[in-house]
Amino acid sequence: MQIVRELDDLRGEVKKAKKEGKSIGLVPTMGFLHEGHLSLVRSASSQDDVVVVSVFVNPIQFGENEDYEDYPRDLESDLQKAREAGGDLMFCPRVADMYPPGYATFVEVERLTEGLCGANRPGHFRGVTTVVNKLFNLVEPDRAYFGQKDAQQALTIKRMAEDLNMNVEVRVGPVIREEDGVALSSRNSYLSPEERRAARVLYRALSKARDLVYIDKEYRVETVRQCIEDEVGGEPLAQLEYAEIVNGDDLSSISEVKGNVLIALAVKIGSTRLIDNMLLEV
Ligand code: AMP
Repeated sequence: MQIVRELDDLRGEVKKAKKEGKSIGLVPTMGFLHEGHLSLVRSASSQDDVVVVSVFVNPIQFGENEDYEDYPRDLESDLQKAREAGGDLMFCPRVADMYPPGYATFVEVERLTEGLCGANRPGHFRGVTTVVNKLFNLVEPDRAYFGQKDAQQALTIKRMAEDLNMNVEVRVGPVIREEDGVALSSRNSYLSPEERRAARVLYRALSKARDLVYIDKEYRVETVRQCIEDEVGGEPLAQLEYAEIVNGDDLSSISEVKGNVLIALAVKIGSTRLIDNMLLEV
């Protein structure tokens, strides 16, 4: 697997692939790759001729007091894992090349980015859509692969691609979990053993909410939300940031749990912020 740092070299590789009539699949990541990322690389590899995995810890999607500096990085290991999963090219641009002095252009998707994580991380989605737009322009992928783990991000990117007539198909892969239900995340590496045990509360709360709807036929939004609050409240190391039950297609408010419903939550375990979600069809 080839590592490409320079934007011009990347453009050269893209040009070569296009000339050979090859399709390009892009998997954008911030690195420290795990099975969640690799499942997307495998999908890309089964669909596209050339699989580009980008590894870029994007400074403009982090808030001032967030973990940009501390975000885990291990390029050697990423390279090996991505290669084994079917990646062809790892694109690792430098921050100074992505955002040179004088940089002034940002992409913003309205409405979808206002609630859930957007309400607690101002500027986060603006940073995400901007960097993904840049990656799309550089890599010119036929398909781009994102994870349902970041449900709001996936919907936002789909909206951006459609609204701005981008010539790319956005695909979304399922949430990949550990055996005990904890969703894989690069940030799980911050957790102490006790915190890692406490992190199970996210999936436990989602599963209880799902059972309340599917088994007990409880369709009142407030009651389902309360069930999540109670479950997270019972875990001493956890602090709930939000639990939302919204329309799964556009994240709008719903008056009852019916149709395509997204249950999403963000929880702080110690100082580590984790998110998870579940889609219900009711
Ligand atoms: P990140 O490196 O955290 O920015 O994630 C890069 C991509 O991998 C995003 O599209 C994420 O949604 C996806 N991803 C991260 N964790 C998981 C997971 N546990 N299951 C599925 N996709 C994931």
